[in-house]
Amino acid sequence: MTVYLDHAATTPLRPEVLEAMLPYLTEHHGNPSSIHGSGRRARLGLDEARETVARIVGAKPREIVFTGSGTEADNLAIKGAAWANSARGRRVVTSSVEHKAVLHACAVLERNGFEITYLPVDRYGRVDPADVAAAITEHTTLVSVMYANNEVGTVQPIQEIGSVCRERRVLFHVDAVQAAPFLSLDVDDLQADLLSLSAHKLGGPKGAGALFVRQGTALLPQLSGGSQERQRRAGTENVAGVAGFARALDLVQADANAREEENARQAALRDRLVDGLLALAAVELTGHPAERLPNNASFLIEDVEGGDLVAALDLEGIEASTGSACTTGSVDPSHVLLAMGIDEARAHGSLRLTLGRETTTDDVDRMLDVAPRVIERLRGARAEVAATASAAPA
Ligand code: PLP
Repeated sequence: MTVYLDHAATTPLRPEVLEAMLPYLTEHHGNPSSIHGSGRRARLGLDEARETVARIVGAKPREIVFTGSGTEADNLAIKGAAWANSARGRRVVTSSVEHKAVLHACAVLERNGFEITYLPVDRYGRVDPADVAAAITEHTTLVSVMYANNEVGTVQPIQEIGSVCRERRVLFHVDAVQAAPFLSLDVDDLQADLLSLSAHKLGGPKGAGALFVRQGTALLPQLSGGSQERQRRAGTENVAGVAGFARALDLVQADANAREEENARQAALRDRLVDGLLALAAVELTGHPAERLPNNASFLIEDVEGGDLVAALDLEGIEASTGSACTTGSVDPSHVLLAMGIDEARAHGSLRLTLGRETTTDDVDRMLDVAPRVIERLRGARAEVAATASAAPA
């Protein structure tokens, strides 16, 4: 049996979610913009899903825009809000540890004459709200900071940053893609004007996301076409995907007590994993020791290439991640780890293990059984290569 420890990458579709999707993949095939019965049935599914998502985040249904992914939600939020408010100013503030969906959207703005401030983080990956306050000028229209980091799991002081933005009358976008299965998403508590979600990170299907857009927030659509989603996102809606998304979100978020119980269960397993791996020589935890997602255990493992470790674990039936993007065989050092002050050489030894609802104690123990052997073997191989290289004639 494969042990899947890569839930930050994606999660298995929950059976209840598939059940919620199936009618829209079979009998309710209509286009929600059509006025006939089939269209109206699809529209009803879309409306119900919108109501569910709105209820979970404490918003009005009209404030929810369905998108094709978390990436699209981030792009719509950042480019859409920056352009729509560009007459007031062309400055955007974000952090240096954001997902590429945010960083690359900001880079596009930068190429179009916007000025972007990339806030530093501390060694745990946390943004200081005082730095947000200091970075805002009269020309700043938007601040974008993620709720929780996808690589190291660090949770940001979102409420405090939200307060700063509210006080300074600057729009606040929160990328809540990783936080969504675990943390409260109440947009008023968070003081968020824009909030991104993605279905496949919480037991939903891939290819469905949402952006909360607070009423009155000007947004320039990023797709040209039909008038779907109140003219904020053209394109026929993915009705089945959206229905599955709403069901998945409801399953993790509707009952706060159940959510906390599951968080505690995963955190206990996570701690078992962390304790076990930290007992090995030259292994270090990355991310905040306490302010972190309950499912995230991220490490730096000295004298090991993260990509090699992930490949070796895969051969043992354990699916993990380095936490950074792989490019044709080599692993780029993570921008998140570099921003946290970790040097490039050490950043190569990153390992991210992310737990989920179906993760068991046996899964964790299997990892703890396999890891020491695999790490020792990789370190041995590296030492041998180094010794051969130094013995070779110049
Ligand atoms: N934002 C964060 C923090 C993420 O972790 C991800 C996915 O890894 C995304 C955005 C993008 O979401 P999607 O895969 O739905 O495009």
